[in-house]
Amino acid sequence: MKVSIIGAGMVGSSIAYATMIKGVAREISIVDINGDLAEGQALDLSHGAPYVHPVRIKGGNDYSLTKNSDVVVITAGRAQKPGETRLQLLKSNAKIISSIVESCLKYSENPIILMVSNPVDVLTWVAWKKSGLPRERIIGSGTTLDTARLRQNIADHCKLDPRSVHAYIIGEHGDSEIASWSTANVGGVPIKEFCNGCLAKGCERDKVFERIFENTRDAAYKIIEKKGATYYGIGLAVARILETIAGDHHSVLTVSSVHEEFRGMRDVPFSVPSVLGKKGIERILPLKLSDDELKGLENSAKVIKAAIESILENREPRAESPRDGK
Ligand code: NAD
Repeated sequence: MKVSIIGAGMVGSSIAYATMIKGVAREISIVDINGDLAEGQALDLSHGAPYVHPVRIKGGNDYSLTKNSDVVVITAGRAQKPGETRLQLLKSNAKIISSIVESCLKYSENPIILMVSNPVDVLTWVAWKKSGLPRERIIGSGTTLDTARLRQNIADHCKLDPRSVHAYIIGEHGDSEIASWSTANVGGVPIKEFCNGCLAKGCERDKVFERIFENTRDAAYKIIEKKGATYYGIGLAVARILETIAGDHHSVLTVSSVHEEFRGMRDVPFSVPSVLGKKGIERILPLKLSDDELKGLENSAKVIKAAIESILENREPRAESPRDGK
């Protein structure tokens, strides 16, 4: 598989690093407006190839490097500043993404486009609109990272292997995202039942769930405050998405895609567990949500829709997300 990564910054280079270690691409091209950076990253990474898997890595500022890509991963754009919401990044990144999609499609006819730049859901929609590609080939990394954070936080609390925790963050990759506690389970045991043992010892389950969710939702703010950016987690999350596409694994991941219809809203992208294979999104799974969770998901879709409308109407996005601007 040939993967092109647009944006050679912290996120793009971490994705390249994780992808080459997993051995899911035979060719990786890295393109950045800063050609020296892309070339430097490619050279540095390529020197690790003898210790992992055979892979050809090239970098520069010329889009011809992306010729015949199976997947184009877009990480270019401005990173989130401390205290800045993802939606505030919207305007500047939407323009950048449109021009990148146009350039990539000159060299690859029918690639899968995998959006990582923030705000990822809105930019997934921008890529879908701009590219004219079918919806199943436009994927946002969505809440794959948030879902990993939730599983890890539950695993830490319950002293478990996070791979045995099946729990999802759905909706926006951002402040309005929600945890689908009603479907969460540990090895097939619903999480609320799994907690019974600890409840007997006085654990306040609902408060613990709330704290775990808040730590999950706010993780990026905390990391950005401490080290300026987040990149290793997303690097591994995107490599996992690429792995299921390359191997046609039909894995279930909470990626973002442009939904035809949801509760009267058309063409709104958000994340729900989806089956992924070599053709892109194969199936969206019907989660059995509680009434409150369904309301939360609807609110999240509305936040994204409002941001998309702000692009269409050329005005600042409305701060509809409960924590926008904080
Ligand atoms: P960064 O500043 O380190 O890298 C961005 C790169 O994009 C820079 O090298 C810059 O030169 C390049 N760039 C800018 N405009 C370009 C253009 N027109 N064409 C080509 N390259 C261009 O930022 P980062 O930390 O790597 O973050 C990148 C993006 O990923 C941000 O939008 C960030 O918010 C997002 N992100 C998403 C997730 C997620 O879960 N989806 C997680 C972390 C970061």
